[in-house]
Amino acid sequence: MTDVQKAEPVKLKEILEKTTQFFKQKDFDSPRLDAELLLAKALNLRRIDLYLKYDQPLAETELQQCRELVRRRSKGEPVAYILEQKDFYGFSFYVDKNVLIPRPETELLVEAVLERASKQEPLSILDLGCGSGCIGLSLLKKLENAELQLLDISSAALEVAKKNAGALQLSERCQFTCGDASEMHFSGQQFDVIVSNPPYISSDDERVQKEVVEFEPHQALFATQNGLGANFSWSKQIITQLKPGGIMAFEFGIDQSPHVRKHFEDLGVFSEIKIIKDFSGIDRHILALRKDS
Ligand code: GLN
Repeated sequence: MTDVQKAEPVKLKEILEKTTQFFKQKDFDSPRLDAELLLAKALNLRRIDLYLKYDQPLAETELQQCRELVRRRSKGEPVAYILEQKDFYGFSFYVDKNVLIPRPETELLVEAVLERASKQEPLSILDLGCGSGCIGLSLLKKLENAELQLLDISSAALEVAKKNAGALQLSERCQFTCGDASEMHFSGQQFDVIVSNPPYISSDDERVQKEVVEFEPHQALFATQNGLGANFSWSKQIITQLKPGGIMAFEFGIDQSPHVRKHFEDLGVFSEIKIIKDFSGIDRHILALRKDS
């Protein structure tokens, strides 16, 4: 017998508990879920399989992989960037630091457009500032005869959108354009549906979470004119390319509802303008129908 005891191998359940406690101390919103998702990713398991291997010891290389992802999260990096994945409207999207992480409230914009759009017609859709492509591509998944034009000023973001179109088997119905939505002209093209979640945060807004400012692309977040600059210039620029009877739907920020409504009214082409609230009861989207002629 020797005095030197071999160190007990660390079991999955122990590291899961430890990670959850660690994230709790860091005051993360969903410590258990974050821990499960990250450890599952590090160990190349599905989340439910964590519990099948709960009592199993981890190899040193596995532990290292876990530690690396936990370290990234502890520095505030959003889980979606670490996993390179985010679910949106029931579909799985690849995401990285070049695109905004799709938000659940944006699903309501997709829902509102789908309530109005005809399912059978060969609609042409434009997604301005598409980022990951989550809005336009989700619409395309649901509207089988539609085609989609995706625009973003960031070529890196557009690459992400292309990757998502491929993974969702939608590439054939998509066109990608790199450019500034406030100057863009799609010559000869008219759209049935124009959607956008433009950058809408004012640069001096202190309510934005630190994690968001530190990790998400500023071009996708911040806009001039108290956050209204992109909304105003993009909608004004593109309005001539919305077909009579067409739908225009934009997301906007807290406190912007009256200004956005007034701007849309002043565009002078809509027969109906509707404001949609998010899950917290805050005005979040504007949906407008262009007059028939
Ligand atoms: N359309 C994308 C989204 O809603 C990107 C939006 C943006 O970059 N502002 O997530």
